[in-house]
Amino acid sequence: MSDCIFCKIVSGEMPATIIEESEGLIAIKDVHPQAPVHLLIMPKRHFRSLLECDDEALLGRMLSMAKGLAEEQGVAAGGFRVLINTNKDGGQTVFHLHMHLLAGRQLAGEMG
Ligand code: 5GP
Ligand code: ZN
Repeated sequence: MSDCIFCKIVSGEMPATIIEESEGLIAIKDVHPQAPVHLLIMPKRHFRSLLECDDEALLGRMLSMAKGLAEEQGVAAGGFRVLINTNKDGGQTVFHLHMHLLAGRQLAGEMG
């Protein structure tokens, strides 16, 4: 997708702080962090949203990567949150499937 900012990050056309890459996935730092740890985990392949992705293995690997990153970032025991905003009412602003990993502060009581 030529007009997708996350595709441009995947291709290297746009800069990002890459934390991890593996098996068709990439994890980057969110440019506007909402918590001390705020990473975005996404497939390298373009899916507009969660609704367009039927690849259960890929979705499973996104969750596994989130868990591994939480451990690596030292926030697993303290606690963390993963979420996928989907479509307008879900708060999705970038239409390339991605999962947020948030941690490093008290997130209880917030849903987004
Ligand atoms: P959404 O609202 O679609 O779930 O999340 C999009 C996220 O992407 C936001 O948290 C926003 O800060 C982040 N974001 C938007 N543009 C860029 C960018 O160019 N680089 C990075 N690293 N993050 C971005
Ligand atoms: Zn894309």
